[in-house]
Amino acid sequence: MDCLFCKIAAGEIPSKKLYEDDQVLAFYDIDPQAPVHFLVIPKQHIPSADALTGENSAVVAHVFEVVAKLAAELGLKNGYRVVNNCGADGGQTVGHLHFHVLGGVAMGWPPF
Ligand code: C5P
Repeated sequence: MDCLFCKIAAGEIPSKKLYEDDQVLAFYDIDPQAPVHFLVIPKQHIPSADALTGENSAVVAHVFEVVAKLAAELGLKNGYRVVNNCGADGGQTVGHLHFHVLGGVAMGWPPF
């Protein structure tokens, strides 16, 4: 399958890896939008949040456990933002489910 994040998960394309286990990989975003910006992806190819079902969604709970662990390790004690861009209107550019974790700065809401 010609999927960039599957290739990163398989180690075929290098990434600045933060964490890995049998289910997920976390790595720094190549184009950071905050002082701390990393991505957490399931290793299994799930195209987007739209493709989550009762069969494959358990990994999302694990993603959030890993987010909490990494945020603590990176010292994001004042908080952080987790973002999932879903589909074209959501701004998704890579067709493999991923969660952005942004921190190290106070962010506003709404974001635009
Ligand atoms: O949510 P969206 O699909 O737009 O996010 C994709 C993200 O993947 C971007 O933030 C981009 O910088 C990141 N990326 C990366 N490494 C790559 C290609 C894209 O970190 N090799």
